[in-house]
Amino acid sequence: MSRPPSSMDVVEDVELEDDAPLAKRRRISDRDGCEAAHSSTCAILKKLWFSDGDIVLEIGKKLLKVHRKRLRCSEIFSDMLHLPQPSETDQIDGCPSVIMAGDALVDWEVTFDWIYHRSDFLSQAITFDILSGALRISTKYEIPDLRAWGRKQLTSRWPIDIVDMRLNALPHAAEAINLAQECAILEILPAAFYALSVQKFRCGADGGRSHMMLSPNDMRRFIAGREALQDVLMRILIDPLAEAGCTPDTGAGCTRCVLRRAAYWRTRLAPDARSPYGTWLVRELDAMLHDDAFAETLCTDCLHAHLRTVRWRLGRLRGAMPSFFLL
Ligand SMILES: [Zn+2]
Repeated sequence: MSRPPSSMDVVEDVELEDDAPLAKRRRISDRDGCEAAHSSTCAILKKLWFSDGDIVLEIGKKLLKVHRKRLRCSEIFSDMLHLPQPSETDQIDGCPSVIMAGDALVDWEVTFDWIYHRSDFLSQAITFDILSGALRISTKYEIPDLRAWGRKQLTSRWPIDIVDMRLNALPHAAEAINLAQECAILEILPAAFYALSVQKFRCGADGGRSHMMLSPNDMRRFIAGREALQDVLMRILIDPLAEAGCTPDTGAGCTRCVLRRAAYWRTRLAPDARSPYGTWLVRELDAMLHDDAFAETLCTDCLHAHLRTVRWRLGRLRGAMPSFFLL
């Protein structure tokens, strides 16, 4: 059996031949019942092999030697490390070892970046892969601080109030739906479904793989929501100034403004066949509330009536979004 080197500086990717002892190593988190991690050969991950580490983790086909005290940020590890270490536990490089079944190495690399290089981690540009890795590990191993950070990042992209959704919600919307369910952050689902629904699949704006990523149930939610949104848009385009349930315009407005208002709604919300995106109705309504240039073209009474209609439609849409997607 070739021994793992004892210093980070000189380590090469060394294959560790497996004798029987691997079978004795503790396995935790066998979420998927996956046996793949019980490998016959493993290689050392250089950047996470600390010569003064005191625990070895086997993740996929890689061995990581890290510090137990650093792992205590995880409530699962903290509990485990408080238990007396069984003497028959297999040792690698003089340390107890644990098989991390069912975990992706990249997710743990993200987590160890957060554990060992916190300020660099927090100052980097956060990709979806970083976010999903951090959330998967922090949820499964109960790392409250990392999970809180991930949750904040996730809800800033797919906000609870759908009016706050920005362009960065569009990429990875389908992946976000899966991640939200896997990590129990369900409050982002309306925004994530909505972000997916404003993208045209035929233009590949959804990444071209959304339909393969979503479960059949989620595809049904997505289709139902998109249909509901199209109905809302269609109603507005057919009769921009009348809306069942909305307070009627006082005095019905003057003829000059009524024509102008109807044309404005239709111009503003008409789908653009050339765009890879459909009408982002929530964003358009919000922008209409602040369209001072148009407001100046209306008389005072008609302006109040106009803003009342916009606010009413926006409020209804915000409230109805979860039910549109059967959430
Ligand atoms: Zn008027």
